[in-house]
Amino acid sequence: MSTDPNCIFCKIIAGQIPSKKVFEDEDVMAFHDINPWAPVHLLVIPKRHIVSMESVTPDDRALMGKMMVLAPKLMADAGVTGGFRQVINTGRDGGQEVFHLHMHVFGGPRPWAKG
Ligand code: C5P
Repeated sequence: MSTDPNCIFCKIIAGQIPSKKVFEDEDVMAFHDINPWAPVHLLVIPKRHIVSMESVTPDDRALMGKMMVLAPKLMADAGVTGGFRQVINTGRDGGQEVFHLHMHVFGGPRPWAKG
């Protein structure tokens, strides 16, 4: 599994930086964003260090599908009943600040937004 020792999310996966983890399996991890933009704001990340959506390939279809499909379960587990929003920021112009691919999942009553 490729990791980057300088990547903050790889350090979270390795347990070197604490996080409020809500899900983990062999491929992905999900945890609460440290600076939430919504009443429930989770990040879903691949365990493999992938820089951004610009780096994914057709071989990542199953992984990306797993991340996408995980969101409704995580929101239900968090008690979110009114719907949610999934966002992936890509690259500088896409507002990406952490260069380890991650999907934001925003839930809870509005108003809220990111980007
Ligand atoms: O999509 P973008 O790269 O802008 O989002 C990065 C997100 O990672 C931010 O919402 C930030 O709060 C979150 N973060 C975190 N824990 C860290 C560092 C960043 O939840 N230790």
